[in-house]
Amino acid sequence: MGDPARIVVLGSGFAGIRCARDIAGELGGAADVLLVSEDNFVLFTPMLPQVASGMIETRHIVVPVRSACGGARFREARIRGIDPRKKTVSLWGRAGPVRYDYLVVALGSETDFFGMADVEANAYTMKTLSDAVALRNRAIDMLEEAENDPGARAELLCFVVAGGGFAGVETAGEMLDFLLDASSHYPSVRREDIRVVVLEAAASILPAFEPGLAEFARRQMEGRGIKIRTGAAVAGFDGSEVRITGEERGVRSRTLVWTAGVTPVNTIKRSLFATERGRIVVDGNLGVPGFPGVFAVGDCAACTDPATGRPHPPTAQVAIAQAGTAARNLVALVRGGAQEEFSYRSRGQMAVIGKRAGIATVLGANISGFWAWVIWRSVYLSKMPSLERRIRVMLDWGIGLFFGRDIARLRMPRRQVEKEYRMLDEIDGLW
Ligand SMILES: Cc1cc2nc3c(=O)[nH]c(=O)nc-3n(C[C@H](O)[C@H](O)[C@H](O)COP(=O)(O)OP(=O)(O)OC[C@H]3O[C@@H](n4cnc5c(N)ncnc54)[C@H](O)[C@@H]3O)c2cc1C
Repeated sequence: MGDPARIVVLGSGFAGIRCARDIAGELGGAADVLLVSEDNFVLFTPMLPQVASGMIETRHIVVPVRSACGGARFREARIRGIDPRKKTVSLWGRAGPVRYDYLVVALGSETDFFGMADVEANAYTMKTLSDAVALRNRAIDMLEEAENDPGARAELLCFVVAGGGFAGVETAGEMLDFLLDASSHYPSVRREDIRVVVLEAAASILPAFEPGLAEFARRQMEGRGIKIRTGAAVAGFDGSEVRITGEERGVRSRTLVWTAGVTPVNTIKRSLFATERGRIVVDGNLGVPGFPGVFAVGDCAACTDPATGRPHPPTAQVAIAQAGTAARNLVALVRGGAQEEFSYRSRGQMAVIGKRAGIATVLGANISGFWAWVIWRSVYLSKMPSLERRIRVMLDWGIGLFFGRDIARLRMPRRQVEKEYRMLDEIDGLW
C-alpha cells in the first residue's frame, strides 16, 4: 500500500467542515486529511444578528472545529498564498509550506466596501463573531452617551444599516428589538428617540424572496418604526453622517452597519486561479479548470447555475451542498471513479424580521408572520452542528422570554488581522 493521499481543505466554514468530515469519513486510513483555518470554530452565521442583539450568548453559536471535523486533522493558521503549480499552501508566520496532492478551497468571503475608504474605516460590519460583539457594545455605548448628552441624542440613537439582504434586514430587526428593550434602563431615552434606518441601493429589499413576501417584510418593519429606503446607495460615511448618492443631505448618525456586499478573501484574489468577480471559476464538477485535483466550494466559488445562467448565491445552503459534491468527486479521483455534476435545488429560505415575525418559503409554500418565525427557529436550531449548542441556544431564547436584556458592555479591541500578520512576517524576515 502506498503513502496516504495528502488532502488539504482550506477554511472551517460551512463548506470546509462538511468537506473535510465527508472525505475523512469516506477514505479513512487511505488519506491524511488536514483542515487549515484561522478560526478554530465554525460560526453559525444565521444567528449572528441575535448575538449582536444579546438574545444569544456569544459562544453559543460557534462549535469548535476539533469536535466537528470528524477524522480530519486541524491546524489553526492564516493562509498566505496558494501555489497550485508547486501544490503548496503557504502560511503566515514561521511555519513552512503545507504540501498537498488534492486541495479544496473553501475560504468564504469578506466584507466588500466597494472602495469607499471612509466607510471601511468608520462603519461596523456583520460577518464575524467579533463584529456582532462590537455592534452590541456600540449600541450600549450610544445609549449611555445619549443619556448624558441630550443635545446629540438624535444622531447617537440613529442606527443606519446599509444593505437590504438577509443580513441587513435581520440585523435591523434585531437592533430595534434590542434598543427598545434596553432603553428601559435609560430614564431620559424615549421610544421616539430611537431610529433604525435601512438603506438599500436596489429597488426592493430581500431580492432572494418572492416579491409578496419581501413586501410583507417591508410593511411589517415599517409598521414597527424601521425606516426602509430603497434606491438609496451609500456614498460615504465620516462617522457622523451617512451620505447617499445623488442627495445633498445625508442621514445624521454615528453608527453605520455595513452589510451591503461580500467579496472573496485576498488570498484568492492573489492566486493563480481564474476568477469571476473575485470568486474562483469552477467547472460543473466544482473542479478548478487547469489544476486537476483542486476544488473550490462555497462563497469563494463562481459556479453557474444551469437553470438560471447566473452564479449560485453565496448562502450556507449552497456551500453545504457544494461541499458534499466536491467531497464525493475528490474521493472518486483518489479511488478512480466517475465525476458527478453539481446540481442544486433550494429547499426554501427564511428570514426573521424582529418581534417574533418572519418570512419563509418552505417546499414551495409562502409563510409570513409568527409561524414563519417559529419555523425559522425550529429549522435553524435543528441545523446547528452540536446538540450541546442547540440546548444552550434554546435556553437563551427561553430566558429572553422572561427577563430583560443584559446591558453590560464587554470591552474588546477591534482586530486588524492582515496588518498583524504582515508585521509578524516582517519580524520573521529579520531572524
Ligand atoms: C449575518 C449573516 C447572516 C446569514 N444568514 C444566512 C442564512 O440565514 N441562510 C444562509 O443560507 N446563509 C446565510 N448567510 C451566508 C452564509 O453564512 C455563507 O454563505 C456561508 O457561511 C458560506 O460558507 P463558506 O464555508 O463558503 O464560507 P465561510 O463560512 O465564510 O467560511 C470561510 C472560512 O475560511 C476561513 N478563512 C478565510 N480566509 C482565511 C485565511 N486567509 N486563512 C485562514 N482561514 C481563512 C474563515 O475563518 C472561515 O472559517 C449569512 C451570512 C451572514 C454574514
